[in-house]
Amino acid sequence: MHREQPQMTLPAQLPKALLDWYDAGARVLPWRSDPQPYHVWLSEIMLQQTRVEAATPYFERFLRELPTIADLAAAPEEQLLKLWEGLGYYNRVRNLQKAARVVVDQYGGQLPASFDALLSLPGIGRYSAGAIASIAFGIPVPAVAGNVRRVISRVIESDEPISREETRRRMAAALSALLPKERPGDFNQALMELGAMVCLPNGAPRCERCPLNGFCLAHLHGSVDRFPCKEAKKERRREQRTIFVLLQDGRVGIRRRPARGLLRGLWELPGEEGFLDEAQAQNWLAAQGFSPTGPLRPLGPAKHIFTHLEWQMQGWVVPVTGAGALCFVTPEQLAEEYCLPSAFRAYADRIPNLIRGVFDV
Ligand code: SF4
Repeated sequence: MHREQPQMTLPAQLPKALLDWYDAGARVLPWRSDPQPYHVWLSEIMLQQTRVEAATPYFERFLRELPTIADLAAAPEEQLLKLWEGLGYYNRVRNLQKAARVVVDQYGGQLPASFDALLSLPGIGRYSAGAIASIAFGIPVPAVAGNVRRVISRVIESDEPISREETRRRMAAALSALLPKERPGDFNQALMELGAMVCLPNGAPRCERCPLNGFCLAHLHGSVDRFPCKEAKKERRREQRTIFVLLQDGRVGIRRRPARGLLRGLWELPGEEGFLDEAQAQNWLAAQGFSPTGPLRPLGPAKHIFTHLEWQMQGWVVPVTGAGALCFVTPEQLAEEYCLPSAFRAYADRIPNLIRGVFDV
């Protein structure tokens, strides 16, 4: 029989303790000092899978090139992908543009000041809608990021798995009940900041400097290691791939990935499933319309981890004739004009040396 859980309740001291701490020492971040809706939106989408330190230069460059939502809506895809190169999860930037086009068409180029209207835009889920609504517009709604779930789970010793939607919903209801109506954006940011700077994951929280340590149950009971509760993760699928660095007249061959599936539509170094030995690699080259003009040299192993998948790679570098179905570009063009996902970085970083004939770095 399904038993209804009692309502989740948070300590009444939490908002003041948190906001006093935030006021005393919050980090100065470019999207905080001037929380324009577009800037807050962009920062929240970038920060979904990226640390603040890594995201900040991307954020600044993005706004230099696309200073308004209208600019974002009109940007060519290649420019967008280049601006996102290295951040991964490229659907985020594609959805940003889709949403920007809706904002231009339906809201005159300004983000709507409404949680529900924000939630209806592509790429904006409940967390992002809550963050934008509260930070940019002062609307009193919670923003229950992963960091926030970890903090709450420890403060009240919640044994509800934090990945469950039901847990998120119950935490959102509990936070709504004590969200200070006059400072919802600061409150949400303070909780996120605490999760990022103090209440760290993997059993390493800095409780001694935490403003909540006077009433955090996990701290008071010495049970921090047991929270948050997590459900067993599915094992990540492993896939073996052979990557080819094909060289021709000081250029390297790249191709576009298919329009559907993993890294869709992005550029890649050509490759094939499985680990191809030298004879198989020769056959592959012939089947692609290439003739080697020098020896095939192994490039060694590399690995890239996606959310549900791990690529285990081996590489070959070889000079070739023939055009095949590749586009041959100089290292400079590759760096400046094409978006090559970081999955290929281990081999791509070596291309300038490989072109110069340096194979053993
Ligand atoms: S006291 Fe420790 S466990 Fe509790 S919220 Fe603060 S850092 Fe997290």
